[in-house]
Amino acid sequence: MQVHVTSRARGQMLAAAAAAHPFEACGILLGDGVRITDVRKAANVHLTPETHFEIDPQTLIDAHRAARAGGLQVIGYYHSHPHGPPAPSATDRACAAGDGRIWAIIASDEVRFWRDAPDGFAALSYTVSDT
Ligand SMILES: [Zn+2]
Repeated sequence: MQVHVTSRARGQMLAAAAAAHPFEACGILLGDGVRITDVRKAANVHLTPETHFEIDPQTLIDAHRAARAGGLQVIGYYHSHPHGPPAPSATDRACAAGDGRIWAIIASDEVRFWRDAPDGFAALSYTVSDT
């Protein structure tokens, strides 16, 4: 499985990670199928945002509502690792829903994509395009 992301959406994730540092940034991946065409930035409402993230529930509700109204689908989530590699941490694995959604993890000016599969996170290759 391969993910496609627009350079604009990728740039927005990198900018959100830089802006949130030293806290974890987080947000929602929007698009269609495996095409990520937009992201929605969310507040990290976790009590220890240095090492954890929790997407503001209202932002999630709003994104699902917009999708039902004909907008872009919620196809996954992004968050940053201010101190670790762009790979699922032990905390991420413990919190994963195993629902097949795509996770983008940002660290060190790099974005990597993972599928939150029932049997664990699987690394995804991706391409970047302008549209
Ligand atoms: Zn993480």
